[in-house]
Amino acid sequence: MSMTYYMDVYGCQMNVHDSEIIAGILEADGFTNVDNPELADIILLVSCAVREHAETRVLGRVCQLGGKWQDRKQGGPLLVLCGCVAQEHGQDLLDRIQKLDLVVGPDCYKDLPGLIHNSTRQALAEFREGDYTGIDAVRKRFPGAFVTIMRGCNNFCSYCIVPYVRGRERSRSADSIIEEIRDLSEKGYREITLLGQNVNSYHDLDTSFPDLLDQASDAAGSAWIRFVTSHPRDFNIETVEVMVSKDNICNHLHLPVQSGSDGILHMMNRGYTVDEYLEKIRMLRNAIPEIVLTTDIITGFPGESEEDFQKTVSLLDEIKYDNAFLFKYSERTGTSAADLCDVVPEELRLKRLNYLQEFQRGITVEKSGKLKTRILSVLVTGNAKRPDQQAARTRGNRMVILQGTDYEPGTFVDVRITRADGWTHFGEPVGAKDI
Ligand code: SF4
Repeated sequence: MSMTYYMDVYGCQMNVHDSEIIAGILEADGFTNVDNPELADIILLVSCAVREHAETRVLGRVCQLGGKWQDRKQGGPLLVLCGCVAQEHGQDLLDRIQKLDLVVGPDCYKDLPGLIHNSTRQALAEFREGDYTGIDAVRKRFPGAFVTIMRGCNNFCSYCIVPYVRGRERSRSADSIIEEIRDLSEKGYREITLLGQNVNSYHDLDTSFPDLLDQASDAAGSAWIRFVTSHPRDFNIETVEVMVSKDNICNHLHLPVQSGSDGILHMMNRGYTVDEYLEKIRMLRNAIPEIVLTTDIITGFPGESEEDFQKTVSLLDEIKYDNAFLFKYSERTGTSAADLCDVVPEELRLKRLNYLQEFQRGITVEKSGKLKTRILSVLVTGNAKRPDQQAARTRGNRMVILQGTDYEPGTFVDVRITRADGWTHFGEPVGAKDI
């Protein structure tokens, strides 16, 4: 009988797709997936280290699962920690958590079957050159599919642990990416998202990110193309020109600004000023007036004064993002920001976060409300929470709930927006489309 595995995943889209790659590696070796940890021979947790809260959560889950079974020799499952926390702490985790059997970093997943069969407690957290091209990922998001175009990051934003746990930037070969996209399109996937920590710095020989985006659009056929994450310093007019020239590239851009204060951006080592950022937004909106813009912001970065914070509020007011992902600063050991002394107290970080959330919610509600009665193309993605409804996404990545269950996932439908609740919209279909 084949061995069974259960997997939980935490964190970003890169981790979600890594979990699909891990599933592909295990299933190619004969493992079978189960959706209940009680039935699993192996439990894998794919962890995120970007914020302290995420790290605490996954380690709590390791201890909770480990506490359920006496010991592996008495029939308990093999407990495996993967992902960024595994890379960050390596052997130290095995020393601290006796119930943990394997610790495996993001570059070492191909070794998982061997490590599991070997069944010796071990930490494998080394940086490696290769990527996961050729692995038949077990995709869980039909009609959506992630395609990793690069791994790692060279930017060293002062608050961010990613370069330390994911290593330096490595781009995949353009040929292998285009082949994967063509294959996904032929298999019926209708929303293909190119993934990288900083997609704009992608390069493979002469192929830059705009070149890749152009080729990806052709290879995707009728499937929509998205890409994330863009870095404001590197996002450029060439990328915008490709977005304008191709119908299937979605009119959504996630462009993390992080702060509205030049002083804080400098301390964050972000590599742009507020004016330079605003200039890119103007260029983008001139070219694509209907662009849906989202961002990330950190409140309470070390040294952030009330004046700095008010500049961030003003920037939100000026740009009027369609949605924003807001976080309070989380100190990560080993990053350069962790050495800064001018720490903003936790309560103040939270207070600013709450204020900003409320402020942005007003903008999101206002902008979403303007869509009422508009007809938009959506891609039906699957079931909604209620059994009599379906979930869909617009090109701008807005979530739309459709009444009824008439459409197969992967169908493009025109819908009339009837109302919005923040970022969630409700619509009634006015007809399915061929593309
Ligand atoms: S660009 Fe900055 S924030 Fe993004 S992953 Fe790289 S270091 Fe982290």
